[in-house]
Amino acid sequence: HAALLQGLDALGLLDSSADSESRRNILVSPLWQPEDGTQRIAAALAQALAAPDAPALPGKFGFAVDCGAQAVLRADSADIRIERGPGGVTVRAEGYATGACVSAEEAVPAAMALAHWFLAQGGKTRMAALTPQPALPQGFQTTLDFSPAAAPPPPGLTPAGWLVGAEFGQLQADTLAALATLGALRLTPWRMLLVEGLQHAPEIPGLVTEALDARLRVVACTGAPGCLQAAAATRPLARALAPSVPAGQLLHVSGCSKGCAHPRAALTLVATPAGFNLIHHGTAASAPDLLALSLETIASHLLPTFHAP
Ligand code: SF4
Repeated sequence: HAALLQGLDALGLLDSSADSESRRNILVSPLWQPEDGTQRIAAALAQALAAPDAPALPGKFGFAVDCGAQAVLRADSADIRIERGPGGVTVRAEGYATGACVSAEEAVPAAMALAHWFLAQGGKTRMAALTPQPALPQGFQTTLDFSPAAAPPPPGLTPAGWLVGAEFGQLQADTLAALATLGALRLTPWRMLLVEGLQHAPEIPGLVTEALDARLRVVACTGAPGCLQAAAATRPLARALAPSVPAGQLLHVSGCSKGCAHPRAALTLVATPAGFNLIHHGTAASAPDLLALSLETIASHLLPTFHAP
């Protein structure tokens, strides 16, 4: 841990205090390009949030800086969004259809003004919790033309480099180290990393590098032996079944009825001490359709489900 802290410090990645660290919740578009201003604005915003007179925002309150040609973070959680707009950028509060159209230089002061306004309205948690919605301050009344949230990009080539996912969202240190030799790494909020400038899929085991990778059609929790509550291993089974899952369908393999990996309804297998229960469409806690399937018979029970209309 000490070595990690030293390394982070040498890279300028440690904040001066826990307070300023907790305020610096900035989501940056991983697809930023040097000329689109995203990086510059994010750095200025980080500086403003570390200043002694920075607004004392709640721990979960955050900003999205998403100034690429196309906004890519709209499906990701943020309270104040800075995006490309006519003549510069737009700054808006989450949940509002209007905002401010300003120059890139004015983006951070406008975002700070919105943050102070949020606190003045008695905001304690998130922008969406301000109900009923108070009227925005002066300067934020321009109706903004923004499209609904797009799905995050899949693994593969992007204009900024190659996006890679980690199998089951778990990355080994060796894999990360190998990836880092291929280019600078950008974090994404989509359980993926972007390798800056990389033009081909990295050949490193444990990575999901293509949109058509079958492992994107399965989700599995830690399972045994990593989780003490698991009745069986989950990931080897999910890995083995993945190629059978048709495109557009999702199979959830859960180590117990808690369903940590996917709290929503899906085709679900739940490990029990007697075998796997199959739920055709439900969460891991739903009533099973078939009980106690053995590992040998699971595939034959699943195949008809996959081919159902
Ligand atoms: S779903 Fe159950 S087995 Fe899987 S990680 Fe959660 S608690 Fe553990």
